[in-house]
Amino acid sequence: MSPSPPPRKKLLAATTNAGKAREIARVLECLPFDILTLEVLEPIPPAPEEGRTFLENARQKAVFYSRRSPMLTLAEDSGLEIDHLDGAPGVFSARFSGPESNDARNIAKVLELLRGVPEQKRTARFVCCAILCRGGETLTETTGRAEGIISLEPRGGGGFGYDPIFFYPPLGRTFAELSPEEKNSVSHRGKALRMVRDFLRSHAVEA
Ligand code: IMP
Repeated sequence: MSPSPPPRKKLLAATTNAGKAREIARVLECLPFDILTLEVLEPIPPAPEEGRTFLENARQKAVFYSRRSPMLTLAEDSGLEIDHLDGAPGVFSARFSGPESNDARNIAKVLELLRGVPEQKRTARFVCCAILCRGGETLTETTGRAEGIISLEPRGGGGFGYDPIFFYPPLGRTFAELSPEEKNSVSHRGKALRMVRDFLRSHAVEA
């Protein structure tokens, strides 16, 4: 009888955002890890997100969830910075339109705030800070950015969040008009996660 293969390692992607989870799984799919999301944990209150920066929030989430699970834990915090709005919505990207925020309302608010602002002043970037932790100890921290322009109206049906109004000049389309592979190849999250992936490859981290 041939010996059974060793159990696959597990990595907790600490998010409940289905769009983020899909992108994380795709970038890390070549690693020998099963990628699990927060749904596998016993219900716990959400991690604090009280930081003033993406990095502070990502650290809070990574430490919080990695202390509540034995798994290697990947947390990220991300959002949109619009230069004409002095960096808003920033860390408030998910809740920009108040307690009833959703993607459509957040987009409508951005377009309203930028009404009449010409293209050259509609510059913006997505930022993603990703942190890999185990038992509350940080193994690596990475940051990725993608520079673009806020379009005059939403375009495209892919992606999530602000993707329909994030025009990416090098490809001449909004992020919502890109395939998942195209978006990951140029996005803030794709960049940050590829650095995490390279860290995992080169450090032979145990699950
Ligand atoms: P948080 O990191 O869970 O606080 O939420 C980040 C928010 O930023 C999301 O809910 C989106 O509104 C926005 N965001 C982050 N990454 C992306 C992206 O790749 N595309 C579009 N919106 C994003």
